[in-house]
Amino acid sequence: MALETYKQKRNFAKTPEPRAQRAVSHQKPFFVVQEHHASRLHYDFRLEADGVLKSWAVPKQPSHDPAVKRLAARVEDHPLDYADFKGVIPKGQYGAGVVKIWDRGSYENKLATKPQAQTVTEGIEAGHVEVRLHGRKLKGDFALIRMNGRSKKDNWLLIKMKDKQARSGSADGNGRTGREVTNPTRVYTAARRSGRSRSSTVSPVAASIPKPLHPRSVEFSHANKIMFPEMRITKRDVLHFYEKIAARLLPHLCDRPVTLERLPEGLAGKGAPYFWQKNIPPYYPAWIPRAELPSETGKPVHYALVNDCETLLYLVNQGARDITKRCGNKGQAVYLLG
Ligand code: MN
Repeated sequence: MALETYKQKRNFAKTPEPRAQRAVSHQKPFFVVQEHHASRLHYDFRLEADGVLKSWAVPKQPSHDPAVKRLAARVEDHPLDYADFKGVIPKGQYGAGVVKIWDRGSYENKLATKPQAQTVTEGIEAGHVEVRLHGRKLKGDFALIRMNGRSKKDNWLLIKMKDKQARSGSADGNGRTGREVTNPTRVYTAARRSGRSRSSTVSPVAASIPKPLHPRSVEFSHANKIMFPEMRITKRDVLHFYEKIAARLLPHLCDRPVTLERLPEGLAGKGAPYFWQKNIPPYYPAWIPRAELPSETGKPVHYALVNDCETLLYLVNQGARDITKRCGNKGQAVYLLG
């Protein structure tokens, strides 16, 4: 597959993804796995070979258990620059949604050491690839094997080979064992207590739960209300502004529990009502992602996670002005909404 398909599928005036460019291969080839929250969450497994990223879309998180065979649909080659891509592919564009780097590292082509040595590209043509991964999460030998089904789709299996890094029943590369994660908030809390870094725990958690259905759009209430009296800026203006900058803002907010400063009446003078909100009220819609963390007194607090444009607009529509990312017990960066 050439980069032509990659190019054809994308409008580079609208997506922040890198342009199609062939590059010189590195001495030490690398792999990357991107967690892609598209209409269906999947993991894009990519191997650098011949100046491009040979790519497969894996619907479930790769496993270290040799008994677990992950379906991997071969997709178009991506440019090498794509390995650094994380961010939001805007709505209406191909693959719209948040892309995060789930794992990366160098790899060795195991086919090169066989009596009939092959490159990765030759291995792909033959339907059998073996690599040794040196990632933060994925470690050891993995095989990609093409299925010989009647389906026209280029379906493969991603399988952990038996070696020292193989774990039976493991869900990820951290040696965590057990069944698939079903309750995001509980696992999130447990992971915090165990002292693991947030980035390595939240993502897989968010990954494995079916998301509640999103509305196509958020209904705006009192859109004509003046939020900034001096400049006659209405709530509708503010909402449209956030819709516009969502693609830039969301990567900074994604998967971070937030505290909200709410000004239901906008900035109408000094006495304008406002309050701080950590716990999200029970009437908030079920599709808003949430995380449970203990408060100082140990009581659980349910924070909102601003992972998508709809949630951001819902909160702005509620009159949220500041969104503060929670970091430990203190708020970190503050985003002024308005
Ligand atoms: Mn993808």
